[in-house]
Amino acid sequence: MDISPVPAQPVSRLIEELNKLPGIGPKTAQRLTYFLVRLPEKEARSLAEAILAVKEKIVLCSICQNITDSDPCLICRSEVRDRTKICVVAEPLDILPLERTREYKGLYHVLHGVISPMEGIGPDDLKIKELLTRLGDGGVEEVILATNPTLEGEATVMYLHRLLAPLGVRVTRLARGLPYGADLEYADEVTLTRALQGRQEV
Ligand SMILES: [Zn+2]
Repeated sequence: MDISPVPAQPVSRLIEELNKLPGIGPKTAQRLTYFLVRLPEKEARSLAEAILAVKEKIVLCSICQNITDSDPCLICRSEVRDRTKICVVAEPLDILPLERTREYKGLYHVLHGVISPMEGIGPDDLKIKELLTRLGDGGVEEVILATNPTLEGEATVMYLHRLLAPLGVRVTRLARGLPYGADLEYADEVTLTRALQGRQEV
C-alpha cells in the first residue's frame, strides 16, 4: 500500500465511516484510521474481508431472528432444546450470557431493539409480529421476557405482557437480581442464573 504522499480523501473517508460505528467518537475514529494506515496490507485485507463476510454469509434465522450462517439456526434446529419455552431478548448478543449459564434450555426470540419513544422506536420496528406467529403455531407454554432492566426494557416488558397475556401463555420475566440499568450482555453467570431461576410472572 502506497501511503506517501497520503491522499487526504481516502483517509477522511475512513474516519467518517468508522465514526458511524456505535461507541466510536471522532477521536477514536481518527486513532483507528491512523492505526489502519500503518497496518500491513494482508491484515487490512483480512479485516475488510471479515466485514464483507458477515454481510454476505450472515442472515437472520427465519424462526428466532437471531443472526446465523444457517437458517434455521443451530438452537432452533436442536432436538434437545425445550420447545415449550421462548426467552425474548433485545439483541443477538444477549443470548450469549444466557447460554453461558447452562441453566436455560429453551428457545429464544430476538426483538432487535426495545421500545424507545425517545429514539422513535415503536413496536412495529421490532420482531414482535414474528413472535406472535411462533406462538400461534402452538406448543409454547412460557415466554420469558429478558430485556435489560432499563426504562426502555421495562416499557417493552409491559407492552409484550399486554399483548401476550390474552393468548394463554405464561409470561414471566427475569428476577430482580440484575441492578437497574445493567446490561444483560455483561451480567455475570451467577447473577444471571439466579435471575433465571427466580423468574416471576409479569
Ligand atoms: Zn433460530
